[in-house]
Amino acid sequence: MLQTDIREQTELREDHDAATAATPGPASPTAPADGDALLFQRCRWCGTPAYRRSFCRACGSMAFAQERSSGTGVVVRRNGPSPHNTWFVAMDEGFTLICQVTGAAPVAVAVGAKVRVVRAGAPLGQGLPVVELTRREPPAEPWW
Ligand SMILES: [Zn+2]
Repeated sequence: MLQTDIREQTELREDHDAATAATPGPASPTAPADGDALLFQRCRWCGTPAYRRSFCRACGSMAFAQERSSGTGVVVRRNGPSPHNTWFVAMDEGFTLICQVTGAAPVAVAVGAKVRVVRAGAPLGQGLPVVELTRREPPAEPWW
């Protein structure tokens, strides 16, 4: 009885170690640039890109490889109430994710606007990626 308990605890700890080693760690002090990289999944079977999915939406496979996104994309549509300033963004690699737009008022963000990732998300995978407009919209001219 006691032996079994000890072995289970050891196995659990090994599993935890393996899990933390397999996932690329959050920003470490020695590599601050990696902390801002937006990582996405690519299906090992059909190559379909995905973002934080447990299985491929095209073929149902659960085998993903992790790749680094170039960090640029296009605003597709708004998500939620306007003041939240969160938008669906189609990244150049072909996956879509919800981002928070910073540095621009919600009215200044338009569908089709190009954005660039400035923060990929909180270290533990919580929170939305933050993007900014890559091209400033010209200031609104008064029409009268
Ligand atoms: Zn697939």
